[in-house]
Amino acid sequence: MKVFKFGGASVKDAEGIRNVANLLQTVGYQNTCMIVSAMGKSTNALEEVVKRYFDQDDYTETINEIEKQHIEIAKEVFEDATDVSNEISQFFNDLTSFLRRNKSPNRSYVYDQVVCCGELISTKIISMYLNSIGLANEWLDVRDYIKTDSTYREGKVDWKLTESNIAQLPKTGFYITQGFLGSDPNYFTTTLGREGSDYSAAIFAYCTNADSMTIWKDVPGVLNADPRYFNDTELLNHISYEEAIELAYYGASVIHPKTLQPLQQKEIPFFVKSFINPLEAGTAVEKGQPLNPQVPCFILKKEQHLVRLSSKDFSFITEDKLSGLFTKLYQYQIKVNLMQNSAISLSLCLEDKYNNLEQFILDVEEEFKVQVDENVLLYTIRHFDANSDSVINKDKELLRQTVRETLQIVVKN
Ligand code: ADP
Ligand code: ASP
Ligand code: MG
Repeated sequence: MKVFKFGGASVKDAEGIRNVANLLQTVGYQNTCMIVSAMGKSTNALEEVVKRYFDQDDYTETINEIEKQHIEIAKEVFEDATDVSNEISQFFNDLTSFLRRNKSPNRSYVYDQVVCCGELISTKIISMYLNSIGLANEWLDVRDYIKTDSTYREGKVDWKLTESNIAQLPKTGFYITQGFLGSDPNYFTTTLGREGSDYSAAIFAYCTNADSMTIWKDVPGVLNADPRYFNDTELLNHISYEEAIELAYYGASVIHPKTLQPLQQKEIPFFVKSFINPLEAGTAVEKGQPLNPQVPCFILKKEQHLVRLSSKDFSFITEDKLSGLFTKLYQYQIKVNLMQNSAISLSLCLEDKYNNLEQFILDVEEEFKVQVDENVLLYTIRHFDANSDSVINKDKELLRQTVRETLQIVVKN
């Protein structure tokens, strides 16, 4: 069995869907489990529905717009789009009636029941289209396979159950299923965290003992920097699992950070390839491969906040105080991307996905003096050399840290 993953960029429009069909015919699709994300930016649009719902704004217009976009794409790829259009409309009717009936004030629960539509619809359209042109496949509802706890928006995988569910799938055939989704013990939909479809593919690869896993991207593979922010990027031909997990952890968003662990455990060869040039080698992630070529790798994380906490009475920031602070950060779901301490101060570069920073600061202000630089940039340079920091504007530098082969610099935006 091999596992393929197609992300939002690969299926963002009719041309993209046709390209996926050609790609499958070129590289082969037998004994393949294909994981697909929502089309283009439709997850963002569905997030907007949730926001409007909780703000008590009109959300039906937004739903109609998303429905229209999907139906338009379907009309472009199908000769007769009646059946598929009906399927799409059915999904959106169900979504609207869910929101009308819902009584739960749990925003994360509602979020998962709404945003799942993106993946359910994209896989329906693609599965029906591939069947219609002779690429016979079976559509699976991933919620029957990937089981999680009830941590909505960040479902934790129940590996035992998931493995036994996926083990029931015959190892022959061509399956199409959704990335990003799972279900909890009550069969309510859960999601695995934004951009989580790479991780879903790794779960399937692990549970099927796949021969390989390939994620198809709009870039030639893993580059030594994100081409959106850096010039003259180079393709990394080979990297180790360790290198890949470090790059992903520091923010190289081409691979979701959770993807590597399941693959590494079973040493499943992992490829990142271009859906535009599928026959090119791309990047191979394999055991013990040295970084090839040996070049510095640059990662930029935006929307960070540099928070400097210092004691008000010149007392040391001791371990008990640190422990209290980290417990609070955990409770507020604020992620620490870098930390540096001195006798009476602690600097933290933080990521505030759930908009809790203000609350956190109010909470710690009684005990500490707090200075904040909001919306700063965090550069990470792996395998840095003497010239690597020329990418940053030194006048704007706020903090710098080197740990072995990794240099991190926090810079004003
Ligand atoms: P998907 O369509 O699977 O969701 P993503 O958009 O999440 O794909 O990932 C591909 C994007 O990742 C690229 O377009 C690129 O801008 C970005 N990216 C970030 N870091 C890197 C890197 N080191 N190498 C290649 N692409 C990168
Ligand atoms: N559609 C989801 C998102 O946009 C999951 C994914 O694309 O990986 O976050
Ligand atoms: Mg993505």
